[in-house]
Amino acid sequence: MKEVSRKRILVTGGAGFLGSHLCERLVALGHDVLCVDNFYTGTKDNIAHLLDCANFEMMRHDVTFPLYVEVDEIYNLACPASPIHYQHDPVQTTKTSVHGAINMLGLAKRVGAKIFQASTSEVYGDARVHPQKEDYWGHVNPIGPRSCYDEGKRCAETLFMDYRRQHGLEIRIARIFNTYGPRMHPADGRVVSNFVMQALSGEPLTVYGDGSQTRSFCFVDDMIDAFIRLMNLDAYPDGPVNLGNPHEVSMLDIAQRIVEITGSSSAIEFRPLPIDDPWHRQPDIARARQLLAWQPQTSLGDGLAETVRYFSALLQSASASKGAARFAASVPAPVPVQSNV
Ligand code: NAD
Ligand code: UDP
Ligand code: UDP
Repeated sequence: MKEVSRKRILVTGGAGFLGSHLCERLVALGHDVLCVDNFYTGTKDNIAHLLDCANFEMMRHDVTFPLYVEVDEIYNLACPASPIHYQHDPVQTTKTSVHGAINMLGLAKRVGAKIFQASTSEVYGDARVHPQKEDYWGHVNPIGPRSCYDEGKRCAETLFMDYRRQHGLEIRIARIFNTYGPRMHPADGRVVSNFVMQALSGEPLTVYGDGSQTRSFCFVDDMIDAFIRLMNLDAYPDGPVNLGNPHEVSMLDIAQRIVEITGSSSAIEFRPLPIDDPWHRQPDIARARQLLAWQPQTSLGDGLAETVRYFSALLQSASASKGAARFAASVPAPVPVQSNV
């Protein structure tokens, strides 16, 4: 890559699910990539294949502490994303979202870097507007078990907007909707990883509630395309951009699809619904379509098939399954449930 277009890019949370795919893509594009992670939920396995690349570096660091490096762009992804992970140490989750954002914004301000925030559809909470557009302010419980994540991410958005208004920073805010694919943590409790692991192990698929709640799932490769397009966009609008796949499915549908794709004999079992579990979620991606000339390309069937291949290989590899077992033992599950269900 020509020196002029080769950038020094910091990816926080780079050893996680999305972060590792992003690092891989940026390294392949020829950029100098610095991955910063404290391995709270990410693993070295996710980035082991990049360690020999001359344009990739890894630093163990917690973003709640200041970081002094010289970079041109920052993708701020550091934060546990699955409910069981972010509820494991909720105070740390809020610190990561808020102190982490302040530190990365302070760094961007000092070095004049462009900075991208991995925000979330959770800022809409248990949405009363459907599908969700960027101008919807959301319906979030500020004191429930999901609040550390939802409010942490909302506050981070506030900080990004204020650093833009007050200090003229060049920011990007992506409101990411549910994303799945290879390198999701097998024990993260998210619905796709849970159902695939359960189906492959012949265990019952645990549908929470009656399974009629919905989500819209985006395959990871499509999401990473959108991240890079958003970062590279010249005319950024004054606010966040929804990124996701608008194809909406119920949890019961997705359980049945996964049973079919895996050819599993697993039954479906119903369990209580977690507290404050959002009822419906579907992104309105008109803004992303228009600004980024982007829309998801991978069908749910193809994306699930690739995810199933990944988890199958993981289960067959003795070392990876040891890793999963070690992690599973260190996180509490399940999440708190509705008392009235
Ligand atoms: P993940 O848990 O796989 O990755 C998060 C990474 O951040 C991990 O590698 C973890 O070790 C690291 N991390 C956590 N706290 C840290 C800290 N204090 N300092 C340094 N590193 C820290 O989750 P993911 O799915 O890859 O999510 C990445 C980002 O995207 C998160 O910010 C998440 O909120 C956001 N997001 C993801 C989704 C999704 O569906 N995957 C949806 C919405 C938003
Ligand atoms: N910071 C950092 N790296 C830098 C510059 C700043 O981690 O290169 C952190 C530092 O902890 C600081 C925070 O970012 O407190 C916010 O920086 P800012 O300049 O906005 O405010 P300050 O607190 O320094 O007045
Ligand atoms: N879910 C489920 N069974 C599981 C895990 C999750 O039915 O084993 C449901 C969960 O209650 C929620 C949906 O699947 O309604 C998506 O959950 P996930 O944790 O993946 O993401 P989020 O709730 O943050 O969108």
